[in-house]
Amino acid sequence: MDGDGLEGSVIIGLEIHCQLNKLNSKLFCGCSTKQQGLEPNTMTCPVCLGLPGALPVINKKAVEYSIMVGLALSCEIAEHTQFYRKNYYYPDLPRGFQITQYDWPIASNGILTVEADGEERTVRIRRVHMEEDPGRLVHQGSIETSKFVLVDYNRSGMPLLEVVTEPDLRSPKEARRFINKLRNILEYLDVFDGSLEGALRVDANVSLRGGARVEIKNISSYKGVERALLFEISRQQNMKRRGVKVTQETRHYDDERNCTITLRTKEQAEEYRYYPEPDLVPLSVKSWEPRLKATLPELPDARRERFKKQYSISDDHAKVITSEIRVANYYECVAGKCEPRLAATWVADYLKGELNYRDRDIKDAFEPEKMIYILEQLKTGIITDKGAVEVMRALLDEGGDPKDIILSRNLAKVETDITKAAVKDVIKENLEAIRDYKDGKPQALNYLVGKVMKKTNGRADPAEVNLLLRELLECT
Ligand SMILES: [Zn+2]
Repeated sequence: MDGDGLEGSVIIGLEIHCQLNKLNSKLFCGCSTKQQGLEPNTMTCPVCLGLPGALPVINKKAVEYSIMVGLALSCEIAEHTQFYRKNYYYPDLPRGFQITQYDWPIASNGILTVEADGEERTVRIRRVHMEEDPGRLVHQGSIETSKFVLVDYNRSGMPLLEVVTEPDLRSPKEARRFINKLRNILEYLDVFDGSLEGALRVDANVSLRGGARVEIKNISSYKGVERALLFEISRQQNMKRRGVKVTQETRHYDDERNCTITLRTKEQAEEYRYYPEPDLVPLSVKSWEPRLKATLPELPDARRERFKKQYSISDDHAKVITSEIRVANYYECVAGKCEPRLAATWVADYLKGELNYRDRDIKDAFEPEKMIYILEQLKTGIITDKGAVEVMRALLDEGGDPKDIILSRNLAKVETDITKAAVKDVIKENLEAIRDYKDGKPQALNYLVGKVMKKTNGRADPAEVNLLLRELLECT
């Protein structure tokens, strides 16, 4: 099942938590946000540990980044924004409350379009709000089987942006596309690096039309979102088929076992108490808008249109290339020095394909200069398409210099003179095949081409060999 056969019956809404991990410091204290790979609990202070008496101070840059994201999602920016305390007790939240936004989110009423099988679907953004990340619970094995839990507060106080959609998505595939596009926009804005662990976490609401709504909490991998939704939809469909009522509940997605399990049902749903955070004053941010709007970079959709115009490349290529800022930058670098359409084919089709096959990212690819070199050799006829692919694969798997690879693997096509000599030899040595050809058996020509290819160790251009053979056979 891919969810697409369910058009009209599936309703999905997303709450996406993105760490603004390009900021230098946490949301309310001076601790660094660069904590990947650090020992647990080494990047903390009284504020982000929630010790009594420690006072939060708002990170101005985090507010600016949030406004920029709001603008990029066509949201209205709030006149005033305010923080609230959301009260609940949890081991990763030592204060007993989380500082978040409630009544006055920083941005609201936006839109984002995603591709939905040939057409563009407009997904409404209900709100974008700021909050602090809690600490991180580490379970041994799965959440269900772990005998104990460890807490790492390094993550506590990381600036988070929560993007909440209206229930406008109609399939798991659309949900995945929405998340990819949001990630892409955040990376274009340079406020977010989606490749870091835990940078993006998703809660998804899913229901079948007319049925109860189930919330799936804390899906932490990009692929997990689509898989969790597929699992949950088929679970609900099976219940419906058996005549069992789907109950409103919160479920946890178990990535390792690819299933969702009950966390709490409606009866146990917690009642948060929200009240205004007295240690942080309300902010008037509307006046910041014009200045920040002026600093917005070119965003993916605009870049895609520009690429189509400036480089005369197809919409499909432009789409693939601009769907990741690193790929777009890579392409611009190559297209500036080569034929842009040729560059588009080799970056969007071949390079992306080879990277996907290896489950790798463009940042693990070889430098654009090496791609330029390969394309120059291809354009001048030194290597064939097949040879160019071989150089690329060698660069991805072993690294090195494209020039050395072409030499050491004999990928340069042999000179025409050598090909001609080989053709002449083959004609002399295969009189029987030539008779067959002249008697009207065209497959004899293929046999002769094969002989020439063998003589040149496969380095001659088959089309050229074919031409030369026919020319010479006409004269004899
Ligand atoms: Zn701190």
